[in-house]
Amino acid sequence: MGKEAFIDSAEQHILHTYNRNQIVLERGEGVYLYDTDGCKYLDFAAGIAVQALGYGNKEYNDALKQQIDKLIHTSNLYYNAPIIEAAGKVCQASGLDRVFFTNSGTEAIEGALKAAKKYAYEKDGCTDHEIIAMEHSFHGRTMGALSVTGNAHYREPFEPLPGIVKFAEYNNLDSVKALVNEKTCAIIMETVQGEGGIYPAEKEFLSGIKKICEENDILLILDEIQCGMGRTGAMFAWQNYGIKPDIMTCAKALGCGVPVGAFVVTQKVADASLKPGDHGTTYGGNPFVGAAVSKVFDIFEEKNLVAHVKEISAYLEEQLDKLVEEYDLVAARRGMGLMQGLELSVPVGEVSSKALEHGLIVITAGSNVLRFVPPLVIEKEHVDEMVEKLKKAFGECR
Ligand SMILES: *Cc1c(COP(=O)(O)O)cnc(C)c1O
Repeated sequence: MGKEAFIDSAEQHILHTYNRNQIVLERGEGVYLYDTDGCKYLDFAAGIAVQALGYGNKEYNDALKQQIDKLIHTSNLYYNAPIIEAAGKVCQASGLDRVFFTNSGTEAIEGALKAAKKYAYEKDGCTDHEIIAMEHSFHGRTMGALSVTGNAHYREPFEPLPGIVKFAEYNNLDSVKALVNEKTCAIIMETVQGEGGIYPAEKEFLSGIKKICEENDILLILDEIQCGMGRTGAMFAWQNYGIKPDIMTCAKALGCGVPVGAFVVTQKVADASLKPGDHGTTYGGNPFVGAAVSKVFDIFEEKNLVAHVKEISAYLEEQLDKLVEEYDLVAARRGMGLMQGLELSVPVGEVSSKALEHGLIVITAGSNVLRFVPPLVIEKEHVDEMVEKLKKAFGECR
């Protein structure tokens, strides 16, 4: 089938919930993708911050192939070795104590919210607890995750959404304080807001929230689904802040391409929240994803990827800052590590489309931000190539 035939068939049979770019991707190698016409693309999106290792990592691929031949799925009624190893590595890397594996990010959020609600319920037996979330947040598309997502466009058609959720302004501690009361059971936020436009939490904001949580026995849920797994130059973004959440959610790069997420809790939360029968999943944490997660942590360590991110992201920031200086249409740069955004004064969708024509994959965030979330394995030469291609796109969008 040629490209047109693929796209025609897709538009006949796949529910139209995405306006997709008009290319059919076929294979990947390193930090490049190739479409069915043989065109090559430098990938600065990584499947939305998923492909941290890039494409075709032999060690990772071999581990998955071997696991497929051994055992793919068992259900959670039995133990399996790969996921036990994976859980140990998540706990080791985070300093948190207990993991529940899910199949996606949004499910990790659902689990985190259930854990927080159960924790509060165990204390007072009440069911009217409140959650504080942030404006312009994104936590996923299922009903519970939508309930804490601060974006009217995503929420409105699906209301009423579960729970009592109040929205504070990100990086405005007073706006959070104004919402705290004796019914507040959790504060949920992204350590670095992704979809909302790449906004890192300010240090005083996050430490202020941590203090509120400690003083009132409110659980701090940090959504690390996009900013976690080394992307910000620490294994988890909150490790840059010298604080620790009570619950953390992971997904995206956790399995580097296999569908897996997790919510991870402290022993305090584990002891007083979800008990046998309170939560479950058929697929979640099967041996196949276990092998993937476990291997991902091994490769991160072998390659010293987090240190690499620190180094290469300094170079990326430098080059992006030059664009801010050189181009009137680039208003500002924001971000942390290899999670960067350029705020533009021209339509960002147009820029990313033009970039694609020049063989560069970049995505958008919010209404006016160009988002850079490349594979963590990029090198300087890839940053240079990206800038060169992006300049061509800018030239056509002035
Ligand atoms: C992508 C994302 C989610 C949702 O993850 P899915 O796997 O798409 O369900 C939740 N939170 C954040 C911060 C994300 O970036």
